[in-house]
Amino acid sequence: MFNSLSDRLTATFKNLKGKGRLSEADIDGTAREIRRALLDADVAVPVVRQFIAKIKARALGAEVSEALNPGQQVVKIVNEELVGILGGKTRELAFAKQPPTIIMLAGLQGAGKTTLAGKLAYRLKNQGHTPLLVACDLQRPNAVNQLQVGGQRAGVPVYAPHPGVSSEAEVATGDPVAVARDGVAQARQALHDVVIIDTAGRLGVDEELMRQASDIRTAVGAHEVLFVIDAMIGQDAVATAQAFDEGVDFTGVVLSKLDGDARGGAALSVASVTGKPVMYASTGEGLKDFEVFHPDRMARRILD
Ligand code: GDP
Repeated sequence: MFNSLSDRLTATFKNLKGKGRLSEADIDGTAREIRRALLDADVAVPVVRQFIAKIKARALGAEVSEALNPGQQVVKIVNEELVGILGGKTRELAFAKQPPTIIMLAGLQGAGKTTLAGKLAYRLKNQGHTPLLVACDLQRPNAVNQLQVGGQRAGVPVYAPHPGVSSEAEVATGDPVAVARDGVAQARQALHDVVIIDTAGRLGVDEELMRQASDIRTAVGAHEVLFVIDAMIGQDAVATAQAFDEGVDFTGVVLSKLDGDARGGAALSVASVTGKPVMYASTGEGLKDFEVFHPDRMARRILD
């Protein structure tokens, strides 16, 4: 993750080593390098601009001018700002006092929601929880089956419109809000302590999708709404994240497909424009390719 960004910043800071104090020219040069590195990592342009302005303001302030090692001071500032934007501390799921905890997944089609549902269920099961998966993606042909396969692999039951026997036509005419409500009722009855609801996505953001997701959120009283975003999304990260933030007011972000070529700049973009923490990273198609996102580790990795 962030390899290129990390490499560039490392090179930048090497140049700063051995200098007594930072001049304005040093800071400008560094800022230029950081800007380039962030843009190369596909961080959205307005986010980069804001980040650089913050770094410059802080680096030119008293802390740096009085510091013994200005280079390290800039590293510290960049590190603090990165960690801050990425959500500060690691944030894990907040479980409801009164089970079941209801977790809903939202995002564009192909973002990795259904895959994530299986991974999250597997992780929670291994932690001693008793999750139930609920298939509310009734738009995409085969999404219900895909969730059922994921559930089977994870050893976690799946609530679907007509478990096991749905034809595509039956699924397409179903009402996802009703399915979500029924799924949660089923979880209560069978004493599942967590419900994971997979929802439909579109190729682009659209109003109907957002209304449906929002209706599901309200109908079941979701405790966590995880916005799943493909790490490869690039500059579209900002508009997509803003639309989902307004539409479903998500509580956390999952960055998917971090095993690909993506440099992870989307994490900075989304966290920066929504103020919501990145909670997990998805790193492959397997059930175990999933990790808790550590802002501090990520920032250290960028700077090491
Ligand atoms: P959904 O439409 O949001 O439910 O997306 P899916 O879960 O169906 O994922 C879309 C495609 O991306 C599928 O082919 C998945 O196997 C793949 N995929 C999902 N997550 C990851 C990931 O973290 N890494 C990789 N390499 N592929 C992934």
